[in-house]
Amino acid sequence: MLGFVPDEVRLSAFTKDDEGKFRAAINGKAYRQCQNYSEHDICNWMVPEEDSNVFCQSCRLTEIIPNLSEPENKKLWFRLEQAKRRLLYTCISLGLPIVNRFIAPDTGLGFAFLKNQETDQWGNELFIKQYVSTGHANGLITINLDEADHSMRMETREKMGERYRTLLGHFRHESGHYYWDRLIANRPEIGEFRRLFGDERLDYMSAMQGYYDNGPAENWQNVWISAYASMHPWEDWAETWAHYLHMVDTLETANAFDFSIAGNLIANPATKAKPQNNAYTSVSFTHLFNDWCQLTKVLNGLNRSMGHEDAYPFIISISALDKLRFVHEIVMKNSHEVVA
Ligand SMILES: [Zn+2]
Ligand SMILES: [Zn+2]
Repeated sequence: MLGFVPDEVRLSAFTKDDEGKFRAAINGKAYRQCQNYSEHDICNWMVPEEDSNVFCQSCRLTEIIPNLSEPENKKLWFRLEQAKRRLLYTCISLGLPIVNRFIAPDTGLGFAFLKNQETDQWGNELFIKQYVSTGHANGLITINLDEADHSMRMETREKMGERYRTLLGHFRHESGHYYWDRLIANRPEIGEFRRLFGDERLDYMSAMQGYYDNGPAENWQNVWISAYASMHPWEDWAETWAHYLHMVDTLETANAFDFSIAGNLIANPATKAKPQNNAYTSVSFTHLFNDWCQLTKVLNGLNRSMGHEDAYPFIISISALDKLRFVHEIVMKNSHEVVA
């Protein structure tokens, strides 16, 4: 059996000992399967024996799961949890704080996976339909279940004229709003944030209305990382944050496969090891970005060879690059710090 060991941030094989406990091959310690692993097979993370929670570090953050009496929902839930685990893996690797809202009601993180309600429990059409908006509020990240349905997500993507729309992208984007509250709001960094992204006190509702009425800012490519980022400084930050997580995760994967360009190994941005082990690696942003440009060229080339669309359909302007560098600096500064 295989399972992910969060305290080691890696996968391990497991064998059952004489007492029937799962022992990890990588450290010999005893673990239990997360309850969503043993009961539903939608998780592959393990829980240390001394931890009394039945759920793993990832599943314990989910506050609302889809209604499992609808058979289709289990598959969609699996995809959501899978994307969420990948987000959390990167956050753990970068040493960013993760705590649930039961332990920290004011600063914790939680997830709700909700479905649009068009009919009541007897199947009658509702007079007022309840559509779920994917978004973040006070530490709770809500994802519309439809986003886990590939055909529905593609339909939305086409409608919005986007070239990139993934479940993982949604998780990364919404986590950006969460970490903005933790790492930027009411902190000295707000000044530099406003200089780069603009003043977030700009009325959000009218900015959103303007965006949906008139479309993105003209020549958004010269200033913003995506069309959506041009809507409001908060969205600009969340889009840039998500992009940074795309970068570091993909670079780390390439590094883990010993991928090299012109004889040089791809930089590994993760600071996975705990600081007390003194293995904190701080790669310069310029180094990361140079490797990123080389790597994404290859990535797109390989996709085209297979007849797929570009995996990375983005061009980074100088202004977007400055914002990405700022995200990198914020992450490095807060890595392994306890943020209140
Ligand atoms: Zn789990
Ligand atoms: Zn957003």
